[in-house]
Amino acid sequence: MPGATRGATAPRSAPIWSSCARPRGCGTRPRCTSISARRTSSPDATRRRWRRSRSRSPDLRAELETIGRPLSDIRGVVLTHGDSDHIGFAEQLRREAGVPVHVHTADAHRVRTGEKPKTPMGPARPGPMLGFLAYSLRKNGLRTRYVQEVVEVADGDVLDLPGNPRIIGLPGHSPGSVAVHVPAADAVFVGDALTTRHVLTGRTGPQPAPFTDEPEQALDSLDRLAGISASWVLPGHGAPWRGTPADIAAAVRAA
Ligand SMILES: [Zn+2]
Repeated sequence: MPGATRGATAPRSAPIWSSCARPRGCGTRPRCTSISARRTSSPDATRRRWRRSRSRSPDLRAELETIGRPLSDIRGVVLTHGDSDHIGFAEQLRREAGVPVHVHTADAHRVRTGEKPKTPMGPARPGPMLGFLAYSLRKNGLRTRYVQEVVEVADGDVLDLPGNPRIIGLPGHSPGSVAVHVPAADAVFVGDALTTRHVLTGRTGPQPAPFTDEPEQALDSLDRLAGISASWVLPGHGAPWRGTPADIAAAVRAA
């Protein structure tokens, strides 16, 4: 979570961006969630619908309570790509709270259906693999609710959401993988274009993510991050990257 806009000190009108930044983060939450202070037109109705089902999303409920914001402040979800472990509660938010879900056009089919090419699993160790499976089970990751309606975005788009997030295409992990740069939060969310903890081996440090469609293309895409100015670089799995965006490509190639 970018600290600059989080918590009780954040101005009520400021956009707040959220990302799982747990050191072992490997769950099923959407990795890029826009939460703004602007209310929707009927917050009571939204709350009523959500209350009926919120037990299915304890992580979101806990996070909203931590930052002191109501559900009706959420204006949009931006998915970094369409893999099932990055969809999380997006469909539940869309269906029950009317929150639009954004994803790159090239991953729109994947996020609607779960269909994706088979990729070699690569290296794995039993402990981390079982840990990832257990975490997924706890978070309903094996019963993914695919997103029935999406707002399609493209490389270079600046979204009409709080903080005006900009989409940076990073094809390779999937054709529609993107980074989401939010200057207002001084953060860039890079999804599985970069991982700092391999979910199948437990190895930490910058490295390519497993289950990548086109590994060579994914490496080439990392060069696109070089020109971004952001103090927070937040991967989909693992701890925040501690260097600058310009250092990422070389660090992953050296891994
Ligand atoms: Zn992925």
